[in-house]
Amino acid sequence: MTGNKAAAPSANHCSRDLREWLTHLAATDRLAAAKPGLGLVHELAAVSDQMELDKAVLFPRPDGHDMPVVANLLASRKWIGDCLGVSEDGLITRYQDAVQNPLPWVEVEDGPVQAVVHSDVDINGQLPVPTHNELDSGPYIAAGLMISRNPTNGVQNVSIHRCQISGKDRIGVLLLPRHTWTYSRMAEEAGHALEVAIVIGVDPASLLASQAIVPMDFDEMEIVGALHGAPVEMVKCKTNNVRVPAHAEIVLEGRVLPGVAEPEGPFGEFPQYYGRRANRHVVQVDAITHRKDAIFHTIIGGGMEHLLLGGLPREATILESLQRHDPGVLDVHLSRGGICRYHLVVKIDKKQEGQAKNIMMGAFAAHYDIKQVVVVDRDVNIHDGESVEWAIATRFQADQDLLVVNNTQGSKLDPTTMEDGVGAKMGLDATIPLAADEFTFTVIKVPGAGDVNLDAVLDDPSAATAIIAGE
Ligand code: MN
Repeated sequence: MTGNKAAAPSANHCSRDLREWLTHLAATDRLAAAKPGLGLVHELAAVSDQMELDKAVLFPRPDGHDMPVVANLLASRKWIGDCLGVSEDGLITRYQDAVQNPLPWVEVEDGPVQAVVHSDVDINGQLPVPTHNELDSGPYIAAGLMISRNPTNGVQNVSIHRCQISGKDRIGVLLLPRHTWTYSRMAEEAGHALEVAIVIGVDPASLLASQAIVPMDFDEMEIVGALHGAPVEMVKCKTNNVRVPAHAEIVLEGRVLPGVAEPEGPFGEFPQYYGRRANRHVVQVDAITHRKDAIFHTIIGGGMEHLLLGGLPREATILESLQRHDPGVLDVHLSRGGICRYHLVVKIDKKQEGQAKNIMMGAFAAHYDIKQVVVVDRDVNIHDGESVEWAIATRFQADQDLLVVNNTQGSKLDPTTMEDGVGAKMGLDATIPLAADEFTFTVIKVPGAGDVNLDAVLDDPSAATAIIAGE
């Protein structure tokens, strides 16, 4: 354990493992303990869901299991800032800086994550895997970092995939066509299984780094190192060549089987709907290792933590991509109502007519999940949905300022898309026309409002009562 009881992290200090973050949460009254023995099926998720904006929750002896479960590691952007050691305003910059200055990991001989080794695997017997949403097919590992290796050059990839417990040593996974999927195709074409590890119980920085939108063969663990300000210590798996964080809580070592597909799903996902059941990839688990007193971390599918983890890394990479083409782009936000993935708001310093539409096209191309882009001027608070709606209400005309692009690639989890995620994109230019006269768009204000010292100007309420009574 690297944390200590005092645990008020200094500026720029980032929690480097799950224990350190939990210690900090406890020290700041943000870690609740459930009574021992709550149920793994729905009960644990129901408690977490009810507390998701308030506290992290530790569940001792869930269904009598020796190993505790923890949920709600992140409740807001402010918590992410606390974890990375920056203010909320500095979050995106800090994250971008880490992506641009990755710090390679170092290999160590052994680590606490391998203190206990189960070579006779029985996932549900050895780990307390919860069942979250009503129609989920059963227990899921929802907060596991899947680490895989490019079979041709050994570069590692880190990502999160939903993992259905399909049997004692078998996991069904959804691999969307990104990096893990590509590595598994490469392995399959060579007639091999893809070696993987599923890592449970890491710090929020590692979870955030796993969601970075970076090119293939960019090892996301190097972003973790940059966020930590120290190289991550990695240890070789017992049964394969994958390297995993030595200070994680739990590792499932295994292989994505070539040419095997078995039913997986349904599973409650971030759009607040279920991903449906279909034949998907299968991981054969060869060993489970964990700390002596391991803690199992779960993320409730579709909950706040799930959305936040998807949102911030995307904002950072989308902002960078847009700024490369247009330095007038000041900030971006993926709104909560747009499930932190589909709806983007872009704040710009407008210099040219047409600029907003170019930015929309750049945003659609930056990530296929983005479905709606609203471009606003610098006086709009992009983190406040009402402020954005005000801009649309007063600075947007649909016949002039609306861009619709048909038949594009969208999110496969968007229930309104056609087969294979094909759908439309919409852009709204809610910026003030450059040609407009200044007075038309002068925003009203009361001089002095917000700066009044109320104690100095307010009298006792009885003064009002006396006036009403005509005294
Ligand atoms: Mn990757």
